[in-house]
Amino acid sequence: MMDKKIKEALIHIVGEKNYTDSLIDIVSYSYDASEHSHRPSCGVWAESTEQVSEILKLANRKGIPVIPRGAGTGLSGMAVPAKGGIVLDLSHMNKILKISIEDRLAIVQPGVVYAALEKALALDGFFFPPDPASGKVATLGGNVATNAGGVKGAKYGTTRDYVLGLQVVLPDGQIMRTGSKAMKSVSGYDLTRLFVGSEGTLGVVTEITLKINPNPTATSTAMATFDDLADAGRAVSQIMYSGIIPSVLEILGRQTIVAINQNTDLELPEVDAMLLAETDGYTQQETDFQMQKVIDIFRRNNPKEVKQAGSEKEAEDLWKARKSAYAVLARIKTHFVLEDVTVPMARVADLLKGVEAIAEKHGIQIATFGHAGDGNLHPQILYDGYDPDQVKRMEAASADLFQLAIDLGGTLTGEHGIGLSKAPYMTLEHDAVAMDVMRSIKKMMDPNNILNPGKMALEG
Ligand SMILES: Cc1cc2nc3c(=O)[nH]c(=O)nc-3n(C[C@H](O)[C@H](O)[C@H](O)COP(=O)(O)OP(=O)(O)OC[C@H]3O[C@@H](n4cnc5c(N)ncnc54)[C@H](O)[C@@H]3O)c2cc1C
Repeated sequence: MMDKKIKEALIHIVGEKNYTDSLIDIVSYSYDASEHSHRPSCGVWAESTEQVSEILKLANRKGIPVIPRGAGTGLSGMAVPAKGGIVLDLSHMNKILKISIEDRLAIVQPGVVYAALEKALALDGFFFPPDPASGKVATLGGNVATNAGGVKGAKYGTTRDYVLGLQVVLPDGQIMRTGSKAMKSVSGYDLTRLFVGSEGTLGVVTEITLKINPNPTATSTAMATFDDLADAGRAVSQIMYSGIIPSVLEILGRQTIVAINQNTDLELPEVDAMLLAETDGYTQQETDFQMQKVIDIFRRNNPKEVKQAGSEKEAEDLWKARKSAYAVLARIKTHFVLEDVTVPMARVADLLKGVEAIAEKHGIQIATFGHAGDGNLHPQILYDGYDPDQVKRMEAASADLFQLAIDLGGTLTGEHGIGLSKAPYMTLEHDAVAMDVMRSIKKMMDPNNILNPGKMALEG
């Protein structure tokens, strides 16, 4: 329960209708899309930067945790109020403030849903490339705070590559602007990038200036299957240094293919790996030329089968297996953890092999799919969360997965962030000096540790 005086002060800032401590809201705010949960004392919907500033000033004076929240689709417990406090819901700040095709940018409030911006940009033939799979619901504020990415990462990068500037409210309530509307700037420290991916621990983003791209008007799609993982892995790295960059290069591992066959009528060949490639551009000739290079590489690496889509409908059919992977796997056991370890491209096959060995070692089912083109795979660990033995084995398998990614020269997370789930593993990836610098930045900017406390191992 929130202290009566604080509750009155919050209502004074946001109005009665934008304050909640009802059980149903408190329970909803205690979760995101991860396995973590913890209840806050209350939630507030902010409608302006000034309100965010007033809320933070109050919370900072009183030492109350504040957890910024977009749509709550995070997969690592990032928006879970680990230490209680106030959930600061930004979803009502959902206006697209400006789209300037002349300047190639969009200015948005943080609560704008990714898909809403996509829809607005499409009218002018433009798009915002990061394309997270959760784009129909996730907010752009959440995308910025987690540096979200998606299937097109290999060619187009992640959210970080498109943020030109931000308006941010600091933990003490000060309002700051970073970056500019120019396409490039080397002016001072890159404060914009400090906030991108900071998981709501350094400031609350209240306005975002994004670079946008002209939408490619042509695509070519092809698929190849491989009996041997090593062949698929070699094909991936050869494609990525062949001189063209496919817009999509996805991989499905055997366990995922088997699960899809058991739960759909797709009747996929049960092979070690399936690769799905898409090239994009502005003429069909251009994308077909790129795709021919991809197909040549598939053919040089002992594929069992190679298929190129001859029509939009055939392309959709090739995409079906990849698109169904997450949902099919999510239904197999009562619980799952979706990891997002990322390795250098040439190590994708080693990662897949390592995942299989880890699954066998711990006697647990792990099905893998993901973005081979940027080395970001999603081993999905399937387990029964009501069985303490399976929970233990899931945790041990996760720990081994993280160690494997680091041993291969990779990272704990290429998409879903650290939050609560991966906080215990931060020191596997970052040395003591780097951890110390991160903790010093947090302490300097948020000395009372009110913003999203308990995340990213920042408390040492
Ligand atoms: C089915 C599914 C598919 C997914 N696919 C992808 C994918 O393809 N790629 C990918 O990268 N992720 C993916 N995710 C994870 C998730 O959708 C992303 O992390 C997304 O960016 C989170 O946005 P959100 O609005 O839900 O943020 P939330 O979950 O509400 O918050 C996430 C973090 O951002 C902080 N935050 C939110 N808004 C602000 C703000 N305005 N200022 C400061 N901090 C803020 C929160 O405090 C929290 O730390 C997926 C999740 C699901 C459930």
